Amino acid sequence: MPNTDGVETCRRIKAVEAFQSIPIIVVTARNQKEFLQAAFAAGVEDYIRKPVEQVELLTRIKSSLQLKQETETRKSWEMELTKTIAELDRALNDIATLQQLIPVCPCCMQPPSTRISESALSSYIQTHLDAKFKDAVCSRCTGL
Ligand SMILES: [Zn+2]
Repeated sequence: MPNTDGVETCRRIKAVEAFQSIPIIVVTARNQKEFLQAAFAAGVEDYIRKPVEQVELLTRIKSSLQLKQETETRKSWEMELTKTIAELDRALNDIATLQQLIPVCPCCMQPPSTRISESALSSYIQTHLDAKFKDAVCSRCTGL
């Protein structure tokens, strides 16, 4: 196969999304920088020169497949990481929303729980101006 056809074939293979990660090794008798530049620009991962030595060919194939595997593993981790970051963002938004809902008794305007002191509530309101209040009649006002 003429080298220009090999480069074009590589371009066509790499243009198909499903084949983009398939490593391509060109075998060439030439020692031309322009051909190799065109081949690498077309997506070739590696090359070997003729005459092909079996050990060299097998080693290059093994290296290319290992690189492909590592690249796919890294992409998978990146996708998982992106999902995890999106989940953490949602959780942080939920926490921020929940922090803005302060339970306050509508009768005495005090927190219904003894776990929230009046000074802690006052301090929280001063630092969270956008806080909203959730009505919850306290046990003092209901007499329970
Ligand atoms: Zn109350």
